[in-house]
Amino acid sequence: MTSPWDLPDFDDHEALHLVRDSASGLTAIIAIHSTHLGPAGGGTRFWHYAEREAAITDALRLSRGMSYKNAMAGLAMGGGKAVILSDAKGTKTPEMIAAFAREVDSLGGRYVTAQDVGMSAEDMIAISKGTRFVSGLPPKEGGAGGDPGPTTAKGVFLGVKAAVKRALGKDELAGVHIAIQGVGSVGGGLARHAAAAGARITLADKNGDHARALAAEIGAQVVSADEIMTVEADVFSPCALGAILTEQSIAALRVPVVAGGANNQLATPEDGDRLQARGILYAPDYVINAGGIINVALEYLGGGDRAAVEASVAQIPGRLNAIWDGSAQTGQNPARVADAMAQKLICRS
Ligand code: NAD
Repeated sequence: MTSPWDLPDFDDHEALHLVRDSASGLTAIIAIHSTHLGPAGGGTRFWHYAEREAAITDALRLSRGMSYKNAMAGLAMGGGKAVILSDAKGTKTPEMIAAFAREVDSLGGRYVTAQDVGMSAEDMIAISKGTRFVSGLPPKEGGAGGDPGPTTAKGVFLGVKAAVKRALGKDELAGVHIAIQGVGSVGGGLARHAAAAGARITLADKNGDHARALAAEIGAQVVSADEIMTVEADVFSPCALGAILTEQSIAALRVPVVAGGANNQLATPEDGDRLQARGILYAPDYVINAGGIINVALEYLGGGDRAAVEASVAQIPGRLNAIWDGSAQTGQNPARVADAMAQKLICRS
C-alpha cells in the first residue's frame, strides 16, 4: 500500500487518525485537513471500500473539500472528515458508534462530526451520548440545525437564480427551463422552489415512482435518468451523484448553465476547463450547496437561529458572483477560481 504521505490527495493534512477498536469491530479514519479557521468540521461517511487505500484517499479528499467549503461559506470552521469502514454487509452496531464517539471525543474538539452518506440522524444522537463534538442534532424551536437538505435546496435555488441572471440576463425564473438530475432531498426541494417561481421543470430520478409523484405535484415533465443530461434547457442541475461531468457528458450537454447541489460534480479538474471552453457557466458545487453545512455549523458554533442561517444562505449568490467575476478577470474556470479563493482563506496558497 502507498504510504498516506505519497497519496495524490495528501495535501499537508494536519492529522490523519487511523482508528481501530477491536472490542466493537470499529475501523475508521478521521482526517483533519485544516483548523486554520476553526475546528475541523465535516461529516462521517459509513461505507464499504474494496481497498483500505481507497478509504484513506476518500478521507483525505473529502476533508480538504470541507476546508474549502467551510471557508467559502464564511464559517469559523476548518475542514475534516471521518470514514467508518463498513463490512460488505453494512454491519453497524451501537458498540461501534459508541467507540467512534469516544475517538471523536479524544480529539478534544479539533474535529466536529456530522451526518454523511450511510449515517443517520439517530446515529448523530447516539454519538452525542459520547461526545459534544457533533452537530446535526434535532433543532430547538426556531434554532439552527436538523435536516440539512431543505437549507441546501434553498441555497441551490438562490444559486440557480444567480446563474440564470449572469448567463441569460433574466431576473426571474418564470419560463426558465431547468433540467434536474435526482429529486431527493436537495433536487426535490429545488424543483419545488423553482416551480413556485414559475420555472419549467424537467426531472429525472433513478426512482421512477418518486420522479412521477413529484412531477404530478408540481407540473413537471419526467424523462429517464439516461436522458436528463442531454435535455435542451436553460440550466442543468446535478442533484444526485458526483463525477457526472466528464469529457463525454460535457460534450453532450445542451444548456448554457450547470448549477446544482451534488458534491464533486467534476470528474477531473480539466472538466471545469471543458465546461468553460463550451461557454457553459458553472456554479462550483461546494459553494452553491453550502446551505446544509451553514445550518449545522451555526448549530454547533452557537448563537445561530433560523434567521441567521437564512441570512448566510442568502449570501450564496454574492459568493458565486465573486467567483464568476474572478473567472472573467483571470480567464480561469470558476472551479479553479473557487479553489484558489478557498486556499487563500485557509492560508494554503
Ligand atoms: P437523496 O438521497 O435524498 O437524493 C438523491 C436522489 O438522486 C435520489 O432520489 C436517487 O434516487 C437519485 N439518483 C441517484 N442516482 C441517480 C441517477 N443516476 N440519475 C438520477 N437520479 C439519481 O440525496 P440528497 O441529500 O438530495 O443529496 C443529493 C446530492 O447533493 C448528493 O451528491 C449529496 O452529496 C449532495 N449534497 C447534499 C446535501 C444535503 O444537505 N442533503 C448537502 C450538500 C450536498
